[in-house]
Amino acid sequence: MTALFISDLHLDPQRPHIVDLFAALLAGEARRADALYILGDLFEAWIGDDDDAALPARVAQATRALRDAGVPVYFMHGNRDFLLGADYAARAGITLLADPTVIELGGERTLLMHGDTLCTDDVEYLKFRALVRDPRWQAQFLSKPLAERRAFAAQARGESRRHTSVARPEIMDVNQAAVAAAMRAHGVRKLIHGHTHRPATHRFELDGQTAERIVLGDWYEQDSVLRLG
Ligand code: MN
Repeated sequence: MTALFISDLHLDPQRPHIVDLFAALLAGEARRADALYILGDLFEAWIGDDDDAALPARVAQATRALRDAGVPVYFMHGNRDFLLGADYAARAGITLLADPTVIELGGERTLLMHGDTLCTDDVEYLKFRALVRDPRWQAQFLSKPLAERRAFAAQARGESRRHTSVARPEIMDVNQAAVAAAMRAHGVRKLIHGHTHRPATHRFELDGQTAERIVLGDWYEQDSVLRLG
């Protein structure tokens, strides 16, 4: 059993070479894997499954081809593409995963998360998250015309960039107490997440046992794939 884990591709028409790298992974190495897990922020922005842009259509075609070749593709929402819904998932042949989800990997219970909910020191972001994850806010947003939603997404990206540039770096990383609480709550000693763009494997002691937190890398400049099993 070989599973591939990726996150934070932030696919965007502005970075076509990253879209090509993703397409190459799906058409190449992923065909020989047993499963592909995408742990959020596959897209830089998501304004609704009815978006008629070229990028979502191209990605759906590529993920569906992988699924049709017999490799299941799992997707967990990130903080950029949390509005990706069941319609698009069906079109793209991907299975939506809740955040968090526990899977069994090589006989070990493994917790999968996007990672933003572990950054509990970033109070400003968590307030924004609570707002946009509210089903009423989402229904209202999705009822707006595409052009209006596009404008909102562009503005939110600007805000996010501003926030990232002024917030202290440690605020943008996970909180260790939140990590321990999540792992304890799910009875796991292994956690895989993305979001922070700080790829690393952290080993630490949790209740007298060795625990492991694997952070996936982003795809801003290059591809980044975790292979397990
Ligand atoms: Mn993220």
